[in-house]
Amino acid sequence: MDYRRFFEDAIDQLHAEKRYRVFANLERIVGKFPRALWRDAGKTREITVWCSNDYLGMGQHPDVIRAMHDASSRMGSGAGGTRNISGNNHPLVELELELADLHQKEAGLVFTSGFVSNEASISTIARLLPNCLIFSDELNHASMIEGVRRSGAEKKIFRHNDLAHLEELLKAAGKERAKLIVFESVYSMDGDIAPIAAIADLAEEYNAMTYIDEVHAVGMYGSRGGGITDREGLSHRIDIIEGTLAKAFGTLGGYIAGSRSVIDAVRSYAPGFIFTTALPPVIAAAATQSIRHLKVSQEERRMHQCQAQLTKDVLAQANLPVMKSETHIIPIHVGDPELCKKASDRLLERHGIYIQPINYPTVPRGTERLRITPTPFHTNELVVELKDALVEVWMALGIPFSKDSAPSVEISERVVTLAVSKAGG
Ligand SMILES: *Cc1c(COP(=O)(O)O)cnc(C)c1O
Repeated sequence: MDYRRFFEDAIDQLHAEKRYRVFANLERIVGKFPRALWRDAGKTREITVWCSNDYLGMGQHPDVIRAMHDASSRMGSGAGGTRNISGNNHPLVELELELADLHQKEAGLVFTSGFVSNEASISTIARLLPNCLIFSDELNHASMIEGVRRSGAEKKIFRHNDLAHLEELLKAAGKERAKLIVFESVYSMDGDIAPIAAIADLAEEYNAMTYIDEVHAVGMYGSRGGGITDREGLSHRIDIIEGTLAKAFGTLGGYIAGSRSVIDAVRSYAPGFIFTTALPPVIAAAATQSIRHLKVSQEERRMHQCQAQLTKDVLAQANLPVMKSETHIIPIHVGDPELCKKASDRLLERHGIYIQPINYPTVPRGTERLRITPTPFHTNELVVELKDALVEVWMALGIPFSKDSAPSVEISERVVTLAVSKAGG
């Protein structure tokens, strides 16, 4: 076996398919979000980031940074152990209480990432349930798929957000068998939303447990930032709500919230929770501060929706192929991995705009896209600059514009207002 050759071939395969990943070397700048320094080939440039999941800019919120400073000066850097062996720090205990309250659940449990929380929780819950059958939305995130796999349970994949298909599968399984439905609220690559109430109805009718990933909604939706289930008053109808502390909350870590018994079971049986060092107090304190802020402040959410809508409208107005999205996530269709990468490179090199290309396997082949995530800090001027840059790139590379984007009167008015305010300085 020529080991070196083997790994080189594996990498060559990615190059051949034009989906070899290159990471941009960035340095975020507190006070200037979404601006960042980009280092490439010995040069440093200031650029605008348009693809961050720090959706509300909480990663640089003064209160969050202060909480981090305070915790580090009082408690140092690391947790010093697993939860079971000396690592169960007080800020982490407080964070779990905060999360249980956020989702109106009896208990919360924190993991080192959202990925780990899905993988560990889904696999443990489905493994504990006798002869469990898992129903999984076909567009579920890799971390949920990994959890389903690791559980060893039988699974049925239902077509994306397709209630009729889900019901057909539930019916076939019968009422007696243990069942777990796993799905997301906001799907991260398309920006659409699951029919949560209807899925909860089906779960009730066929006696299934429900597990929802609210990673792309927590902090951003609901009057307290509890996600789509919060916004729609559905938290009590879903058994387990999973989220991340790393996106809108601007820190790091993942969690689940649910009934005392389920949380205690995952705490007690999940290897991915047990055999790893606890989240450090600095991170826990910062996350708690961020959650507390977003529980009461509506300003970030209001501005986020406002700038996301404006961005969609301005790009659609310019006939850029904006894919339909019900949320703050704005995918722009390219449909080819090489073009997608080229578009991203040209945006960065020519225009100082950073949008990572999204290629297979993150999205299906042929649906390669640029995924744009406006934040409250992307000003009207930055939106116009983005539109101009995208139009230049689309023309230079010959990427198709959309044929039938007919903006509504309402949209045109807003764009006109924007143009006027821009002209006025
Ligand atoms: C990002 C993401 C995760 C993982 O969360 P991390 O905290 O980044 O590990 C889980 N689910 C979905 C849908 C995600 O997009």
